[in-house]
Amino acid sequence: MLSDRPSLRPTVLTAAVGVAGAAAAAVPAPGSDLAALLYLVPVVFCAVVVAVAVPRVPAGFRRPWRWLLAAQVLYLVGELLFLVADLRDEERWPTPGDAFYLLAYVPTAVGLLGLNRQRASVRYRGSLLDAGVLSLSAATLFGVFVILPAASDGSQPLLARVVSSAFPVADVLLVFLVARLLTGPGARPPAFWLLVAAVISTITADVLWNLQQLTVGGLDAARLVNVLWLLYYAGIAAAAVNARRTWHHHAVDETTGGLTAPKLFVLAVAAVLPSAVLVALSLLHHAVPAGWLAAGSVALIGLVVARVWDLLQQLRSQSRRLATLARTDPLTGIANRRTLEHELHRVCRAGRDDDVFVALLDLDHFKAYNDSRGHQAGDELLKAASAAWADALGDGFLARWGGEEFVAVVTGGAQDAVRRVDALRAVVPDGQTCSIGLARWEPGEAPAVTLRRADGALYAAKSAGRDRLEQAVAAV
Ligand code: GH3
Ligand code: MG
Ligand code: MG
Repeated sequence: MLSDRPSLRPTVLTAAVGVAGAAAAAVPAPGSDLAALLYLVPVVFCAVVVAVAVPRVPAGFRRPWRWLLAAQVLYLVGELLFLVADLRDEERWPTPGDAFYLLAYVPTAVGLLGLNRQRASVRYRGSLLDAGVLSLSAATLFGVFVILPAASDGSQPLLARVVSSAFPVADVLLVFLVARLLTGPGARPPAFWLLVAAVISTITADVLWNLQQLTVGGLDAARLVNVLWLLYYAGIAAAAVNARRTWHHHAVDETTGGLTAPKLFVLAVAAVLPSAVLVALSLLHHAVPAGWLAAGSVALIGLVVARVWDLLQQLRSQSRRLATLARTDPLTGIANRRTLEHELHRVCRAGRDDDVFVALLDLDHFKAYNDSRGHQAGDELLKAASAAWADALGDGFLARWGGEEFVAVVTGGAQDAVRRVDALRAVVPDGQTCSIGLARWEPGEAPAVTLRRADGALYAAKSAGRDRLEQAVAAV
């Protein structure tokens, strides 16, 4: 049986090997053969852990993890090729290993998307737009500070430029995927956080690596980059070990539209960042790629407006749903007493040409029906009777007054009204009967008074033996 606790031992073991490997790799000067070999030990170990853990993921949830395993295998091949090149002291860059690193983004993306789909049963645009804001902000900054300089670095051959700009482009995709995980609804078990931490770690490593390439001699982050990449492998392995527990679907809290205060804060920072950088660089009189930063900012404003619009639509449909709920009787689905009062005030107004009739209907011996057939059957009779009456009334109005009492409002001539209302007795389902009290609204009379007179007539119908219609005397 699977427990609800995270699988602590394998997680700790994986993390320990990852961290120890990272530390060991960081001790000798990066670039030495020993460092390169030590670096590979935890990479192989983590790939083996993933390979062992994935078949243990519950069958219906295994597919995305298989993709992540495929990515780990590609990374491993890439690392091996990189090691070979390193041991041979080849200075060429990119190495064949880079092709595998780049290729690994594909199964990683497929796996992360699949996992995200497992987390929530609903899709909602809001989280997609949130992820869009975060990744567009990242794309703008990556674009300006990493991709553009890498792509236009004249000192590098074309292939090197293509590859070194392909990594940050793929990293923007990773930012989108991790933002999708973080902003979307759904469960957040330990495997989720391990995965998120792993992806963030590799994105950070890649950014640092790129910055290192661009600021020649200025930044030496080789050790840190290696540690972060190893943490990525360890994180994926630990997540796979914990994926034995499935990512249950979670209900979405519709009242917030998926937008909480901390999330709004993060989105605001992300949305403002490119413009803030533009302002800061201008003030510092730096050479500013103003066009790119401004274009990113404009697109971000578009996304934020789309998010607000989406929220507004959600709010509208919510208030429509609430308004419908407030108007209807939950059991029968017809108008409730509140709606009846509105309707009576709307219909009973001075100067109308035809008459208004208010009928109070009450099922006969309903208590006995409830007692002999059960409350559930009583409910079913209430539903069936109200449906039959609404059908028979046509354009007349029907509301549930309460319990087994209903009010019908019809307009027109007296004879016609009596005939239409009396016909309701014939359609009571399941061989049951009802009694009806009918009153005509007198111009100037408060609708509540008309109802009271109809109630008097109903009482008379009950006293006279039930299953009949009685008319109220005119108001005095
Ligand atoms: P009468 O012919 O004099 O109208 O007798 P009655 O038994 O119909 O009248 P009474 O007012 O004594 O009983 C009404 C019953 O309706 C009592 C209550 O348990 C039942 N009732 C009220 N609301 C509901 C409901 O929503 N569902 C069900 N199943 N029963 C209800
Ligand atoms: Mg009653
Ligand atoms: Mg009754």
